[in-house]
Amino acid sequence: MAVILIISLIIADYYFNVPAATYFIIAIIWLIITTIGSFNITWNYHVKAYNSNTTIKEKRVAITFDDGPNNKFTPQILELLKTYNAKATFFCTGKQIEQHPNILKNIANDGHTIGNHSYAHSPYFDFYGKQKVITEIEKTNNLIESSVGKKSTLFRPPYGVTNPSISKAVKDTKHHVIGWNIRSLDTVKNSDQKILNRIIRRLSPGAVILLHDSKEITVSVLEQLLLFLQQNGYQSTTIDALFNIEAYA
Ligand SMILES: [Zn+2]
Repeated sequence: MAVILIISLIIADYYFNVPAATYFIIAIIWLIITTIGSFNITWNYHVKAYNSNTTIKEKRVAITFDDGPNNKFTPQILELLKTYNAKATFFCTGKQIEQHPNILKNIANDGHTIGNHSYAHSPYFDFYGKQKVITEIEKTNNLIESSVGKKSTLFRPPYGVTNPSISKAVKDTKHHVIGWNIRSLDTVKNSDQKILNRIIRRLSPGAVILLHDSKEITVSVLEQLLLFLQQNGYQSTTIDALFNIEAYA
């Protein structure tokens, strides 16, 4: 889009003499849009991601947990989900799976879905080239396979950041990119009430809720959230059920 604009400007310049500052302003606007688009998975700027299912009319939502499995909090979360008969999706990192392969097995045995959340969750993940992204995804998928016997086709990029390398990589690995439309901020806020209220305010059929099973506060948020969902006739389901897609290959 930016390229077409620049070319038309160059053509226009031939006839009208466009001021140089115009190019500069367009470049700045393009940079701002690309930056915001990269950090907001809901924009679908680089990659078409599954962020919510707006076609759903029934009160069904998908609770998702990132960054586990965690030896302390994941078992508590599994217990709560069982109590409330709720299903969820866990986006795990390869590093954590290596440490707790049995917890990953428990997640799968309880009927929840396992997704891929890169191997190392590096803060530099967004600077990786296509091949490095593929290596991260495949390394984690091999770990998932050795623990639960199948490979995940769901990928959530670390920090929800998307860029052209990630876009090309998932085309190669044939992964569905999964985002969210309700960011709980459970890694930022330190009041479970505030986190819960933030989720409840944004709740609607087809929503995808982002939580982290690496955080203690999330356990208490989840308990209250599951109670709220039950009292209000909502059912939590897996990502693959919410979007009617395949979770494993
Ligand atoms: Zn993460």
